[in-house]
Amino acid sequence: LALNKYLDLKGNIRVFCRVRPLLQNEQRARLGPKVTPETDEVKVETSGKLRSYKFDRVFLPVCLQDEIFAEVEPIIRSALDGYNVCIFAYGQTGTGKTFTMEGTKGSPGIVPRTLQHLFYEVSLDKSIDYTFTISMLEVYKGYLQDLLVPNHNRMTDAQTKRLTIQMRSTGIEVENLTEVEITNVNQACRLYWKGSHARSTSWTTANETSSRSHCLFRITISSCYKRAGVKCLSKLWLIDLGGSERFFKTHANGQTLEEGKALNVSLSALGDVISALQKRQPHIPYRNSKLTQILRDCMGKNSKALMLVHVSPKEDDLGETLCSLGFASRAR
Ligand code: ADP
Ligand code: MG
Repeated sequence: LALNKYLDLKGNIRVFCRVRPLLQNEQRARLGPKVTPETDEVKVETSGKLRSYKFDRVFLPVCLQDEIFAEVEPIIRSALDGYNVCIFAYGQTGTGKTFTMEGTKGSPGIVPRTLQHLFYEVSLDKSIDYTFTISMLEVYKGYLQDLLVPNHNRMTDAQTKRLTIQMRSTGIEVENLTEVEITNVNQACRLYWKGSHARSTSWTTANETSSRSHCLFRITISSCYKRAGVKCLSKLWLIDLGGSERFFKTHANGQTLEEGKALNVSLSALGDVISALQKRQPHIPYRNSKLTQILRDCMGKNSKALMLVHVSPKEDDLGETLCSLGFASRAR
């Protein structure tokens, strides 16, 4: 409860930072004194100057998945209470966004833990009937792709074009998007893995596109309060964003450059929306990207958002680390 109050005071957006550990093959790269994570700030030393970036919470490289989930859990609870919720993983490719959201078999991330938590919570409260449905889509170069459609690899262009973003009385809807009711954790996780697999095989353009697309997983929660006969609908989005690295500054060309530009546009549109919400500006620029159009009714009034900014501990990555920290400080 105390945490929820805090969220209300803060424009309902919290920003965390996770610094990943050095991987086995990087051990020699050494976590130097250049990036120093502390409880609620990250200090960075560049050309002799020490800069400090504040967060609501910083997760050190030694932090495990359950420590992260313990901080995420109250916001999942809010979704059961009727709030729309967005949880984003932001950061340069290779900093652990997918690890945080999806995790591995031995170290499950936010998605499987959330599914498990939701089914656990509803088993405790018999006064409310809950129904959960899930959908999963990918946003790539401004196009939408349904990740749960059967026979995903045989999807035609015409099918892809059927996905349109509409404003309905119930909120924003992606028309024609597959929606599946889930009844237990195993079934739900299987569907998620299937969607996640479809992500890497989609877009006939072959090359590794998953780092240049956003993956959006939605759990729609319909709650019926038995005694009062009141119904309530909320959406919980778990989002693995595309890599935030600046493509136009590297030696990217052709396809990669185009993808990178589209990605940079949508990530800065997201940053602009968050920053406008935090400053309580009267106009929120949702229209500037597909990503922010889809999330329009889940960022702002009656909603809560959590931005998990991922950074690398490597000195080589310092440039991108500074950009990600800069993004994070705009979001706070
Ligand atoms: P991204 O999705 O941001 O591109 P990944 O999640 O694929 O990054 O992470 C890159 C690699 O680092 C993967 O092999 C992943 O398992 C590993 N990794 C990332 N974060 C952690 C962590 N906190 N602990 C252990 N391994 C991690
Ligand atoms: Mg990834």
